[in-house]
Amino acid sequence: MSEKDYYKILGVERNASEEDLKKAYRKLAMKYHPDRNKDNPKEAEEKIKAVNQAYDVLKDPQKRAAYDRFGPDGPAGMGGMGGMGGGPGGFSAEGFGAAFSDIFENMFGDVMGGGRRSRNGPMRGSDMQFSLDISLEDAFKGKEVKLKIPTVKSCETCNGTGSADGAAPVTCESCHGSGRIRAQQGFFTIERTCSTCNGTGSVIKSPCAECAGAGRVRGEKTVKVTIPAGIAEGQRVRLSGEGEAGVRGGESGDLYVLIGIKPHKLFKRDAATLHCRIPVPMTTAALGGQIDVPTIEGEKAQVRIPAGTQTGQQIRLKGKGMKVLRSETRGDLYIEIFVETPVNLDKKQTDLMKQLDETMQKSGRKNTPESEGFFKKVKELWDDLKE
Ligand SMILES: [Zn+2]
Ligand SMILES: [Zn+2]
Repeated sequence: MSEKDYYKILGVERNASEEDLKKAYRKLAMKYHPDRNKDNPKEAEEKIKAVNQAYDVLKDPQKRAAYDRFGPDGPAGMGGMGGMGGGPGGFSAEGFGAAFSDIFENMFGDVMGGGRRSRNGPMRGSDMQFSLDISLEDAFKGKEVKLKIPTVKSCETCNGTGSADGAAPVTCESCHGSGRIRAQQGFFTIERTCSTCNGTGSVIKSPCAECAGAGRVRGEKTVKVTIPAGIAEGQRVRLSGEGEAGVRGGESGDLYVLIGIKPHKLFKRDAATLHCRIPVPMTTAALGGQIDVPTIEGEKAQVRIPAGTQTGQQIRLKGKGMKVLRSETRGDLYIEIFVETPVNLDKKQTDLMKQLDETMQKSGRKNTPESEGFFKKVKELWDDLKE
């Protein structure tokens, strides 16, 4: 998905203004201009293609809104977002709110009219998706967040009826309520969507000025999202009925919150298992001792390491990993030791080290068996080559 992040491609923030977009686009178009990329024309061409594609979508507020909501592939690419009125062409017109769907009807009404469902009755509002990045700690504990989200809500001025005076829609006189117009042309009867009522079969005599008769307006609302403990990257929380308002009294769509988890400074997560790399001073590793290990709940666990601990050794802390979603169990925390060689030695420390080194050379106690084994193998190899 990252290579299709249009904001990243243009190098702008998600809330970039049209002016920001234009600037970013111009800059990139110059940067990847063929004249300036003569030694790497192929890559520049690929780049400029991606930039053009991203800018094409983001410069158009309608396409941008749809992209923000569904990503580059449209609702069809999301999977699991059932209940969308999917007309031909991926995006259903309903996805944009009634004001936009009118535009779509005017443009495509005759072309798509045959395959569209009846638009006289109530229509379910669209599902929406919103991304939310949380910390690993929040994923561990679970969290309740209040989100301000752009949405389409019922128009307060007309109570969602779309009519300025509150009068109910009346039957369209052009098509007598059928939504279709038939015309005789030579031997053929041609049927097309009624342009007076856009195929709905009814018209509002005096449309509400606030919502242009749609009964819905764009707005913002605050929703409370409960993120369960143990949630993983890419999982979605569904808020039933918190999507876009329905049309003509139809039920609201659902809101999906897509969870992203920010990288953690100390822990790497693998499902319910956590990994943490812990530096240990060479002396502690050699002598053995107590080390402090951080845990995801923000505490310190004390762990004993044996004398002679080596870099790469792993220690399992049972039940100190992530919580498992909708369960009481917890995964494990694995710490991986890396032994740190001391730096910035003063004179005395250097002398002690030298003494230590000397005793190790002489002692015959196999203080560094791995090194000795390794150099024995190297010697054997050289001897083999000599023969
Ligand atoms: Zn209204
Ligand atoms: Zn009509």
